[in-house]
Amino acid sequence: MSTPASRHHKRPRGEGQWALGYREPLNKNEENKKNDDGLNVRQRIIDIYSKRGFDSIDPADLRGRMRWYGLYTQRKPGIDGGKTAILEPEELDDRYFMLRVRIDGGQLDLRQLRTIADIANEYARGTADLTDRQNIQLHWIEIESVPDIWERLEAVGLSTTEACGDTPRVILGCPLAGIDAEEVLDATDDIHSINREFIGNPAYSNLPRKFKSALSGCPAHCTVHEINDVAFVGVVNEHGEAGYDLWVGGGLSTNPMLAKRLGVFVSPERVNDVYAGVIGIFRDYGYRRLRHRARLKFLVNDWGVEKFREVLETEYVKESLPDGPAPTLPRGSRRDHVGVYPQNDGNFYVGFAPKVGRLDGDKLHAIADIAERHGSDRVRTTVEQKMVVLDVAPDRVESLVAELEANDLQVNPSTFRRQTMACTGIEYCKLAIVETKATAAHLIDELERRLPDFEQPLTINVNGCPNSCARIQVADIGLKGQLVVDENGEQVEGYQIHLGGSLGVGSGFGRKVRGLKTTAKALPDYVERVVGNYDTQKKEGESFAD
Ligand code: SF4
Repeated sequence: MSTPASRHHKRPRGEGQWALGYREPLNKNEENKKNDDGLNVRQRIIDIYSKRGFDSIDPADLRGRMRWYGLYTQRKPGIDGGKTAILEPEELDDRYFMLRVRIDGGQLDLRQLRTIADIANEYARGTADLTDRQNIQLHWIEIESVPDIWERLEAVGLSTTEACGDTPRVILGCPLAGIDAEEVLDATDDIHSINREFIGNPAYSNLPRKFKSALSGCPAHCTVHEINDVAFVGVVNEHGEAGYDLWVGGGLSTNPMLAKRLGVFVSPERVNDVYAGVIGIFRDYGYRRLRHRARLKFLVNDWGVEKFREVLETEYVKESLPDGPAPTLPRGSRRDHVGVYPQNDGNFYVGFAPKVGRLDGDKLHAIADIAERHGSDRVRTTVEQKMVVLDVAPDRVESLVAELEANDLQVNPSTFRRQTMACTGIEYCKLAIVETKATAAHLIDELERRLPDFEQPLTINVNGCPNSCARIQVADIGLKGQLVVDENGEQVEGYQIHLGGSLGVGSGFGRKVRGLKTTAKALPDYVERVVGNYDTQKKEGESFAD
């Protein structure tokens, strides 16, 4: 009889694929996961580590399993980027943690927002950064506070479970789900349903690597389905039924690949089965030998779309899935939902841009107070480090906008404020080589001053290392942090430049411009030159990526 092992081609040395019989761990991460499931660290944090303190934490938990609850040690202050690759992990570890709060679909009510704000102020020295995956990250967390923080988050329906780690991470959704007049369908129930069935489920808590998901019916395709491991993209089939087009195997980092369409139509009732199939394939067939080849994209790339679909249908879903249409082209050239727009119920939503996603506890409280004063109980986070207030009555919009702007939460930002993102960088991240947030904030200020009339869409993504948390390769101007040599021959912080990346129509990766690097100091001059050249030389209708 043919078994999965005999039907799928074996690599000579094996890739550690469980379905092919390779159950013995082939690296330290796999060994740690086999020794004890990441989810089990929760009880040890509550019972032991929070009571006995940082030094009581088992190293395998500290640098491994803690991630299953959104906890990473942050970088010890004062260690420069040149030491990142040289030092042992424990030499880089601070005694404080970053804590990632997962916000599936980016959906928050004001009680939840205020809870995060209170936690930021009481336990995190006020820090609160919006990520480009709709999460909020807090810093300076002490292990002693973690059980209290969980209790408060869980009391309002929030969690940090599987916010990091080799797990199904936060599920992206359109911030306008349910209120966008043009949306193909409202994915909210499907996001909740996946969350209930798969998050914190030990059957899916030992994946080869992280697993990023998105579900949306957004006409602007704001959840960047092209770069998720699995994405359900709203479509209407030939019978007029709304459902999803399935994409698999997207991801950036050091070997960027765009997701591929399987060409199947997934009705909302089948979402959980199909999700179970895709995540099951990843768990069972995903590569576990080398961490840098473990994301689903490598398997999809090796298998191809046809084989992936066949395995999904025959071994997992156990029936053929119908063919379906491709999504329509995205609405507009910006996907961020910044600005004031009508909802489908006569109210308005208002999207605003903090600078490079940096907020704090007081700002989160201010946002909650402003929303409440204007009759709203719902805010949303976006995948562009922005936020949206929903349900504003027409006669309250002007006042809400004025109050947001008075708090430097800009509703009508410049292109540079609107479309520049920055990852965490050297301030807290142990993998970072350079600083990012302050550099990007300064860049925005400089470009606004130097190019006040520039209005075209243009994305600038600033990353502190090659890992691409802020999506280097799909930005018009992608900046990859590295040390460079300045005009005096000194090693200083700088960036390798990638130009012309994009998502959506004609999506593609930016080209690394050979030898093109800039120091952090010269960055504003460099970008000003590039943008200035584009602005004067572009032809009618030509975007930066063209
Ligand atoms: Fe850290 Fe690098 Fe990710 Fe930035 S891109 S947050 S520096 S790992």
